[in-house]
Amino acid sequence: MPTAEEAASFAATLHRHGLDLRRGTTEILQINTGKLCNLTCIHCHVNAGPKRKEIITRHTIDRIVDWLAVTDIHTVDLTGGAPEMIPDFRYFVQRLRALPQVRTIIDRCNLTILNETGYEDMAEFLAAHRVTIVASMPCYCPENVNAQRGDGVFDSSIRALQRLNSIGYGRTEDLRLDLVYNPNGDRLPPAQAELEVDYKVELKKHFDIEFHRLYCITNMPISRFKSWLKNNGKLNHYMDLLRQSFNPAAVNALMCRHTLSVGWQGEVYDCDFNQQLGLQWRNGKPLFLWDINPSNLIDRPVALGEHCFGCTAGSGSSCSGTLVSGA
Ligand code: SF4
Ligand code: SF4
Repeated sequence: MPTAEEAASFAATLHRHGLDLRRGTTEILQINTGKLCNLTCIHCHVNAGPKRKEIITRHTIDRIVDWLAVTDIHTVDLTGGAPEMIPDFRYFVQRLRALPQVRTIIDRCNLTILNETGYEDMAEFLAAHRVTIVASMPCYCPENVNAQRGDGVFDSSIRALQRLNSIGYGRTEDLRLDLVYNPNGDRLPPAQAELEVDYKVELKKHFDIEFHRLYCITNMPISRFKSWLKNNGKLNHYMDLLRQSFNPAAVNALMCRHTLSVGWQGEVYDCDFNQQLGLQWRNGKPLFLWDINPSNLIDRPVALGEHCFGCTAGSGSSCSGTLVSGA
């Protein structure tokens, strides 16, 4: 007999619904460039901050680009930390832009970095290389943003968004600007489509800001957010909420089916969350990107854990927002 805990596990829940989680065709390479960041947000699943030393080197960048060059992967998603803070960020983007099959390069930007000394021309650099910006903006009201991300972050984010709009981001199809909402606390996100309408109205009315899409992302019960839940006596309640909100319809669209996650040293994972939990791929030994044959990834089982309930709750959640509509 399984224990109550085993019976409620993510793997058992999939099994009960007759589901199996295996990789499909890899379309996106998501690279976590490291833990260095100018902010220390409460919900951060990376434990990033200004004192972190773990960042990608040029040598690793070269190995990743060489691996990518012989694949059909069309999207590269740069995350962190603040990717712009790594010393070779511009070099990385230039090398990626030179790969003919890479149509989309995403920079997951915290916005405030664009106002920091030394990054004054970063927005123009991103525009010149047609980099899609996916920017954290957990609310259109200052109180929620500052509570989650630190004092002054809301005003700085608004200034950065206005600047991005002024050079064409969010206003032309070539320069895509998408925003990311995540709840302030132990709740599931509201319906993405409705919230996007509210964001568009409020940001336009008060700040003359435009953007393309809003992505709603569920807070994952790992790293700094897990500590916050524990310290506030909310961890069990939040895990129960995620379990009870399991939506089998979200499973087929989970990002671990089509995204490969790489760490700052080139290690390989099923997703950025597994990366933060150290669930590195292994084959007798830990695997790095250059150990992987890109044509052999289909049907590989995904490494699961209880945090996976964060991706299947309600409308589902991924780095590109919700997975099913109307849930
Ligand atoms: S959530 Fe993003 S912006 Fe905030 S500390 Fe983490 S990496 Fe930095
Ligand atoms: S946490 Fe990662 S492995 Fe688990 S369901 Fe989400 S994307 Fe897939």
